[in-house]
Amino acid sequence: MSVESIIAKIEQNKEIYVDFLRKLIQSDSVNPPGNEKNVALVIEDFLKDVNVKTEIFPFGNNRANLIAYLNENFEGKNLLYNGHMDVVPPGSETIWKYSPFSALIKRNKIMYGRGTSDMKSGLAAMAIALKVLKELKLDLTGNLILNAVADEETGGKFGTSWCVNNPLKPIKCDFAVIGEPTGLSPLPKAILVGEKGHLVIKIRTHGISGHSSMPAMSKNAIYMMNEIIENLDKIDDYIPKSEPPIKLEKLKKLLAVTFPNEDIFNKILNEQPELQNLLQSLLSSSKAFTMIKGGIKENVIPDSCEAILDVRLLPGQQVEPILKALKKLIKDDVGYGVKDDFSSPPGEVFVEIEIVTASEGSYWENWEESDELNDFCKLVETIYEKKPFYTLLPASADAHYMRNDGYCPQTILFGPGKGRTAHSIDENIEILDFIRAIKVYTIFAYKFLS
Ligand SMILES: [Zn+2]
Repeated sequence: MSVESIIAKIEQNKEIYVDFLRKLIQSDSVNPPGNEKNVALVIEDFLKDVNVKTEIFPFGNNRANLIAYLNENFEGKNLLYNGHMDVVPPGSETIWKYSPFSALIKRNKIMYGRGTSDMKSGLAAMAIALKVLKELKLDLTGNLILNAVADEETGGKFGTSWCVNNPLKPIKCDFAVIGEPTGLSPLPKAILVGEKGHLVIKIRTHGISGHSSMPAMSKNAIYMMNEIIENLDKIDDYIPKSEPPIKLEKLKKLLAVTFPNEDIFNKILNEQPELQNLLQSLLSSSKAFTMIKGGIKENVIPDSCEAILDVRLLPGQQVEPILKALKKLIKDDVGYGVKDDFSSPPGEVFVEIEIVTASEGSYWENWEESDELNDFCKLVETIYEKKPFYTLLPASADAHYMRNDGYCPQTILFGPGKGRTAHSIDENIEILDFIRAIKVYTIFAYKFLS
């Protein structure tokens, strides 16, 4: 009976929920600089008329994290819903079909705007789940905790990491859901049980400047960087072999559940480079130079060149061996000295390496043995009318702060929206997807805490 009353309540209040989501989209939380407190205040306001206890933890300049919970008792089972409030910048607003902060709805079906997919829909749906459970006064033994965080788009140190190490630390977490968009259209919804790590390295080559009419007198730092770029693939020989947490055959099996049978899946896989690339990204680490700058004037040989190397690590792979391998490559294959800091006298030829950000991957080892996860998966199938599939996230999110260091290994990513529209121009969300996510979050919490 209670599940029916939950669904009826959500159907009845759809417009209010869509309106709440629009308010979140219209609240500026572009990161950098953040301003997540704008969003936290809208959530607090939304929850206060049903007396949900909300705590806001402000920091920096108009930034904040938020925690809200169903009741004051944390002794029973605790379910944690995590969502980030910040969004990436919209880029050039004139290229957008509709203004990125208008939250315009087209044909009653699709809402456009920065954050619609990544991930204010997921965040809104989680806050609504909390409100619905409170309003219906259902008899629950455990607690649902909503954690709306700042800083996800810039590493999460001041958001999820801070929360699990401070206000959430004394609260035992039995299961956690992060509401990132997990639609992988044209495939059905994914449930993500692991994520890759992300290492960003700044490489700076130091050469000797001089007049460009006599280049042989100098040491061109751009050419030095080019040598590193050309030799980069040799790094694979120096990085210790790392096994993916889920092997190819198993990954294919997990994906194949969404197709009528394995033969059809294999046929489609052979024809779809995009699907092949996705699988490949889950089986190995990857690396790419993503930024480069050098030179100060057209007639000066540059003595400095800077490039950013973006490395994606498999869960379990550590940062230190990657750095060691990069240093070995620069020393042995390219032939330059490597230093960690820029304290050498001018005129010295060397390469400097600096870590910009580093987060290791994470993986829930025993996900296949979890009855709760199985319940979650079945519920998604019922509500979305399509079987979801389990896989890993080829990028990185905040889950490593919960899974690693043992706070809550049983953390999954699941949410409304499509991964592909996240961070892109004309980001959007299907209203139906949003409403379905509200149902999944609410019913799962109700069953989990009953
Ligand atoms: Zn996100």
